[in-house]
Amino acid sequence: MASIRGEFYPLVEHFYSVQGEGYWSGQPAFFLRLGGCDVGCSWCDTRYSWPQTGWATYSAEALVELVRATPAPHVVLTGGEPTLHALEPLIAALQEAGYFVQLETSGAYPPPSVLPNWITFSPKRFKAPHPAWYELAQELKVVIHAPSDLEWAEAQRRRCPPALPAFLQPDYYQPKAVQWILEYIKAHPSWRLSVQVHRYLAIP
Ligand code: SF4
Repeated sequence: MASIRGEFYPLVEHFYSVQGEGYWSGQPAFFLRLGGCDVGCSWCDTRYSWPQTGWATYSAEALVELVRATPAPHVVLTGGEPTLHALEPLIAALQEAGYFVQLETSGAYPPPSVLPNWITFSPKRFKAPHPAWYELAQELKVVIHAPSDLEWAEAQRRRCPPALPAFLQPDYYQPKAVQWILEYIKAHPSWRLSVQVHRYLAIP
């Protein structure tokens, strides 16, 4: 699947809500979900975002205007896999407008040359991350779908700086994952639990 390189972004959805997972859980945030993902996680809960085309496209400036209609101080760029797109103009426009920009990425593609304020690096077993993300990330978040994912998460962690906040997050649709994680982080207490609060509380 070819990368999209352009200054117009296919927008799957946008909404002002509360960040439900990871380090910024509980933070009011405006979400921009960009279309396109070729990582292919078998348990993906946002498959509808995989197509790159068929969405309305917006310029960086138009996306900033969507955010400006709310009092959100924090913008989450998510997907899909947002780094399929040339994110530099969008990150720059949001930062120039005063927003704190959080990027959620699997790291499947190289980082943009304009960095966001916060990188939530969520590597996936289905497509090896670009190595640069391990040093750039502000948090590591690994989704646990099977017990073997814990070992894989540990291997990912060893490639990151030791003090990096690191989260294990249960696949919402794998009912056993919460217990696997609880047992694991009690034995390995430098990990933290992340749950998708918005799903458990049905927050849109
Ligand atoms: S990287 Fe994210 S959007 Fe892409 S398949 Fe995996 S979970 Fe789904």
